[in-house]
This record gives sequence, structure tokens and C-alpha cells, in this order.
Amino acid sequence: MINELLRQRREQMFPKLGEPQMARLAALGQRLPTQIDQVLVEAGTRQSHVFVVLAGSVEILLRQGSGDQFQYLLTAGDFSGEMSTLRGSNAQACLRVRQGGAVVAIASEQIRTLVQTDAELSELFMRAFILRRMALISSGGGEVMLLGSRHSADSLRLREFLTRNIQPYQDIDVESDPDVAALFERFHVTAGDIPVVVCKGDQIFRNPSNHDIAECLGINPQLDDSRIYDLLIVGAGPAGLAAAVYAASEGLNVRMVETTAPGGQAGTSSRIENYLGFPTGITGRALAGRALSQAQKFGAALSVASQAVGLRCAQRPYAVELADGNSLQARSVLIASGAQYRTLNIDNMQRFLGAGVYYAATHLESQLCQGEEIVIVGGGNSAGQAAVYLAATCRRVNLLVRGAGLADSMSSYLIRRIGETPNIELRPYTQITAVAGDSQLERVDWFCSSDRTSEQRPIGHVFVMTGAEPNTAWLKGCASLDEDGFVRTGSELTPDLAARHWTLPRAPHLMETSLPGVFAAGDVRAGSVKRVASAVGEGSICVQSVHRALQEFASAA
Ligand SMILES: Cc1cc2nc3c(=O)[nH]c(=O)nc-3n(C[C@H](O)[C@H](O)[C@H](O)COP(=O)(O)OP(=O)(O)OC[C@H]3O[C@@H](n4cnc5c(N)ncnc54)[C@H](O)[C@@H]3O)c2cc1C
Repeated sequence: MINELLRQRREQMFPKLGEPQMARLAALGQRLPTQIDQVLVEAGTRQSHVFVVLAGSVEILLRQGSGDQFQYLLTAGDFSGEMSTLRGSNAQACLRVRQGGAVVAIASEQIRTLVQTDAELSELFMRAFILRRMALISSGGGEVMLLGSRHSADSLRLREFLTRNIQPYQDIDVESDPDVAALFERFHVTAGDIPVVVCKGDQIFRNPSNHDIAECLGINPQLDDSRIYDLLIVGAGPAGLAAAVYAASEGLNVRMVETTAPGGQAGTSSRIENYLGFPTGITGRALAGRALSQAQKFGAALSVASQAVGLRCAQRPYAVELADGNSLQARSVLIASGAQYRTLNIDNMQRFLGAGVYYAATHLESQLCQGEEIVIVGGGNSAGQAAVYLAATCRRVNLLVRGAGLADSMSSYLIRRIGETPNIELRPYTQITAVAGDSQLERVDWFCSSDRTSEQRPIGHVFVMTGAEPNTAWLKGCASLDEDGFVRTGSELTPDLAARHWTLPRAPHLMETSLPGVFAAGDVRAGSVKRVASAVGEGSICVQSVHRALQEFASAA
């Protein structure tokens, strides 16, 4: 990997094992002689082993365009593998013997046990695996080529899917890449087929689903779907990932299913500044990547492009039905499917996310629009709080509401404060109709339906405060929900518990739903604080109750 990362961190990315470490590893595997040109791992296939080189050398080759490119030479004391080894997904690189000698072949399963039990080797392997994956990403090579356009929503979807799942890929922009005509000809596609994904050099997909790509790349590990899991987690956002880390590290067998990619909403944040322990902030992607590596280190299994569409709750073990027709059984279930901020159905709106369009009004955003004219959309308390808060630093705040006013949706103290703040202008019956700009939002158009007038303003900051919708449609009446569709838990349940499936003499645990052994954590839970730290906290805390519910279930069986 002739790139900057390797130059800077070679010793951590390819650390040489010492004699005592080699001896510990030799005891876990089988010594094998190697011969020149022997292929130890084929790119794009499941990796069953990690190889420790005893003598001779092994080349790491990575697919780049139409051929394989040499990246690094493993010699005595080096070991193979990267994050896909732990995850059980397909190998990204090919391993070919350059000079015959010998290796120790250690089954991937043994490596997974090793990183949980041998503190010294765990640190060495985990760091090397993570850095090697980062180097793969920055190399721009790998098993996938995406021919896409900046103006196509499906190209964006596929880019996001690959990027957020930390998959290296070659990104070809059909509007600007000089080789695009040759690539179209070679793969027998046209501009009308965009986005096109070329997988493993020869499999051509025209506008594939995320599931197609996950299948082709073997992103998901091969798992036994007939197994009954201790804990099945729906949603791999901060709440789900935190629960996976704690539950798996405490010996439970844990399975996660996730519609898109690990990280959830937090994974889409460009910088999280209020998460404890990161004084300079951390990108959502980095936080998600670290959390996933940690969960996988402890043996939690994740399937992405895997959506829960139903819960069979009439009997235990419970079963979660998936969009692909499969179902998974578990003795306990964690609902961590989070929420989605309501967006405005306006062209370009998502393009300006973080570049003029915001879903939160914290100190950070207030600094971005200091002294400027802004728009806030929404008539609820969050919009009211944002208006009062931002009016202190912004020149003018336009508060756009669809209806006649705020009385039906906002607390009266906020309505009073808005009335007393001269630089807030309440605009009833008004909706945004268009937004425009280059890389940053520059212009907002709105329409007032009471006097049927349109206005176009040079405004660069829009706060969308129209609430969040919980991802609970898949529960289909199984668990008790509040009037907004969020899952009720613990003491919130008391009034309607009798009418639900509750059969136990005890009250529900802190984050338990109206179904014994089914828990909810994070943004999806009624009354939760919509923050990364609170989602992580809730996911971690509920594992203690999961243990109790499992004991109860075992003694009742
Ligand atoms: C742009 C943005 C920036 C933010 N910045 C901050 C910040 O700086 N600081 C802060 O504290 N908070 C921030 N937040 C809020 C924070 O991200 C959320 O509170 C947090 O992510 C909630 O975590 P969660 O795990 O409960 O749910 P989510 O993050 O919503 O994760 C839920 C996951 O479940 C998956 N899912 C949904 N339905 C299904 C299904 N049926 N089957 C399988 N999977 C499913 C989703 O794809 C998702 O990955 C931000 C939010 C956004 C949108």
C-alpha cells in the first residue's frame, strides 16, 4: 500500500511479531510449506485463515482497474488479514507466495478468540486490521467500481452504502472521468444504465439494490439463520452497537440486523462534538467504524442491507421477519431502530445538509449563522426553542409554519417569548418551495398560501425542526407505542400493560417494552433524549436487564 498512511504508520500496520508472540500463534495453527506463485487467499472469497509468515515471502495484491497491483510484501514475522477477517466477510486482497518457505495457517475463528483473550496480541492485531482497512479505503482500489453521476440519487445511495460500510471502491464520475467511454464499451453499458456497479471485475449490475451489492461483495458473514440467538438487535446505530458491545463481551450470542450501515443517524454526522472523550470531535463514520470493530472483536455478528419487516411476538423465542423472506429467532430482542428526522420534500434539500440545512440548533450551528438572516421551519417546541436561541445571535429569524399560528403546537411560554423578540418574524401559512446554491445554500424561495405571494431571499441557513418519526412500522402492533409511534418502556407502560402481552408477575424492567424480554433503547424509545451519548448509554444499560430476562426465560422453559 504505497500511500501516505503506510508511510506514516508502517510499524503499526505491519508490525513484526517477536519470538514469544510467534510461539503463541504457532500453537493455534498448522505449519504449512509454501511454494512460489501459490495463492493463499483469492480476493473476493471468504477468508478461512490468517497466515503468519515463518520463512519466504507473500505478496499482497489489490485489484486496481483491470489488473492486480502489488501493495506490500509480507516476510518472516508478518501476518495477513484485515477487518474482513474478524467480520467473516470476503477478502479484499489476494495473497500470493513470492518466495517459497513456510507459514502458520490459523483459522479465522481462532483469531476471533485470540483478540478476546490475549490482551497483547489483541491490541497488535486490532490496530493492524483497522489501519489496513483504512489504507484499503484510501487506495481507491478493491472489488467494486461504481460508474455514477453527481446528479443521480441512486448513485448517491450506492456511494453512501459503500462508504458507510467501509468498503473500498473505485468511484468513476461519468461526467468528468476521461476513461468513461472506454469503460462503457468494455462493460457493454450506456449512460442510460447509470449507476452501474462492476463487482469483482466481471459482474455488472445496473442500478442495483444495496442488498445486491452486499451479496456480491460478501459483506455479510455467513451465519446460521436457524440458530436461536440470546439477543437480536434491530438497528446498528449508537444504541444497537453499544448493546452489541456489552452483550457480546458478557458472553451472549448477539446478532444485529441493519437496513443500511452501522452508525445510524450519528453515522451521517460530519462531526460530533458533544460525545464524551472526544474534545476535538469525531466524525460519525469514525465513531461507527470504531464501535463496529469493537462489537466484532467480542463476536457480535452484523448483517447489513437487512431490514426487519415484522416481529412474531405471540410466542417465545420471538422471531424477527426480514425483508428478504428469512426470519431470525431470539430469546430476547432489542428494538434500536431509531428515528428519522422529517425532511422537507424539496429538490436539493438533502444536498445542503450541513452546508446550510440543519436539523439541530446547538451552539455549533448558532456560530455558523451569526449576524445573518435565517429560516426555521416548524411550529413545535423544538422550532420555538431554536427561534428564541438563534435570535440572540442572528440578525433576523423567519419562523415558517404551515398553519395559522403556533397555539396548537407550541408551549405558551415559548409563544410569548417569540412575541417579545423583535427579530423573530412569524410567517403563518408559509412553506419553502425551493432552495439553491453551489456548494453551500445561498437562496430560499417560499410561498404564503393566505395572500398567495412568493418570495425569493438570499438566505444561507435553514433549520428544519419538523420533528422525528420513529422507525417502528415493522413492529405492527406487537409492542405498545405512544401517540407518536415511539416505543413505550418501563414505567411508561403501566396504564396499558394489562391490555398487552404481559404475563409476568413482575413489572417491566427499565427499558423493557410491553413484551417480556423485548427491550427498546435510543431514539426509538418514548421519552428518550435524542443524543448519541444517551443512545449509547441506554443500549449499554439494557443489557443488564437482558441477562435477567434470559434467566427468567430459561427457568420457565
Ligand atoms: C445529521 C445528524 C447529526 C447529529 N449530530 C449529533 C451530535 O452532534 N450529537 C448528538 O448527541 N446527537 C446528534 N444527532 C442525534 C444522534 O445521531 C441520534 O440521537 C442517535 O444516532 C440515535 O441513535 P439510535 O441508535 O437510537 O438510532 P439511529 O441512529 O436512528 O439508528 C437506528 C438504526 O436502525 C436502522 N433501522 C431502522 N429501521 C430498521 C429496520 N426495520 N430493520 C433494520 N434496521 C433498521 C437504521 O438504518 C439506523 O441505522 C445527530 C443526528 C443527525 C441526523
